[in-house]
Amino acid sequence: MENKKRDIKSLTLEELKNEMSAMEEKPFRAKQIYEWMHVKLAEDFGQMTNIGKELREKCRERYFYTCLKLVKVQESAIDGTKKFLFGLADGNTVESVWMKYKHGNSVCISSQVGCRMGCVFCASTLDGLERGLLPSEMLEQVYAITRLTGERVSNVVVMGTGEPLDNYENVVKFIRLLTGESGLHISQRSITVSTCGLVPQMRKLADEGLQITLALSLHAVTDEKRRQLMPVANRYGLDELMEACAYYFDKTGRRITFEYSLVGGVNDSPEDAAGLIRLAKPLNCHVNLIPVNPIKERDFRPGTPEEAAVFKNKLEKNGINVTIRREMGRDIDGACGQLRRSMLS
Ligand code: SAH
Repeated sequence: MENKKRDIKSLTLEELKNEMSAMEEKPFRAKQIYEWMHVKLAEDFGQMTNIGKELREKCRERYFYTCLKLVKVQESAIDGTKKFLFGLADGNTVESVWMKYKHGNSVCISSQVGCRMGCVFCASTLDGLERGLLPSEMLEQVYAITRLTGERVSNVVVMGTGEPLDNYENVVKFIRLLTGESGLHISQRSITVSTCGLVPQMRKLADEGLQITLALSLHAVTDEKRRQLMPVANRYGLDELMEACAYYFDKTGRRITFEYSLVGGVNDSPEDAAGLIRLAKPLNCHVNLIPVNPIKERDFRPGTPEEAAVFKNKLEKNGINVTIRREMGRDIDGACGQLRRSMLS
């Protein structure tokens, strides 16, 4: 029943105006309702005090109003990172992570329930894909966390469970709603979308006219090794992947970030570093090294911090802009690759 109704929180202001005129309501009602949903972060129609009871009732009949149910919060004892488990209307659950940095608060959101990409070191993909999230369900992860923490979110990274470009239309709409001036108006430059490398969608994204950062999960510098870690590498080789990166950079002027999970003894040799330099240099990429986070089903281990530092220095000496990602929230399984469809107790 619920699902036959339209998802009001995924509508743009323009679409909502059309809806209002179809209901023979004044256009300014659209603006009011939109503001309640996307600025005041109302939790249901009942909170919209300047909307008459009759119209609120009509809306309830026509639309469903996405709101996430908080199921569980865990807080890291190490760095204050919080991981939230949210319940969706259909009974599925997703995880989101809130990280506090000196320069502002970041939220890492999930884009799908599960994932079908199959990267061997990642927990999010172990049970496969259930479905993509609606724009409203991605927005609500940001909105619910804003309500719960009482703090403004300044950065959003689409790096939780799921492959965002495998849910392309919904993710792009989510970004437009989140960054639009009638909503929370978060700067596009403060949004990062991370992909395992779906080449056609990367090219399509380059043409959207967005100023977001694209992060590519690279993890290996030869096709052979990449195929062992990431099944998607069987579909797209490094050559066409690098061409898609160049296209994105060219079209948007935004530098690509390469994410590279350092796995001890697997992809952290001097030859790997040399290969990474060779790929990153022509694109002027930023390289983000992630010491691999352990998941219990696999025995991948990070190297020592010293080994990571040696790897990083090699890149830096060659003029590559590189950072080692802090493992925020590792003690609550909130770090990269540790998010799941449900929490293991
Ligand atoms: N599907 C997208 C976004 C989700 S993962 C993507 O592939 O980019 C976010 C980042 O965490 C990716 O770079 C992913 O490869 C990395 N990651 C996954 N499992 C990890 C692990 N166990 N340790 C460190 N990084 C991991």
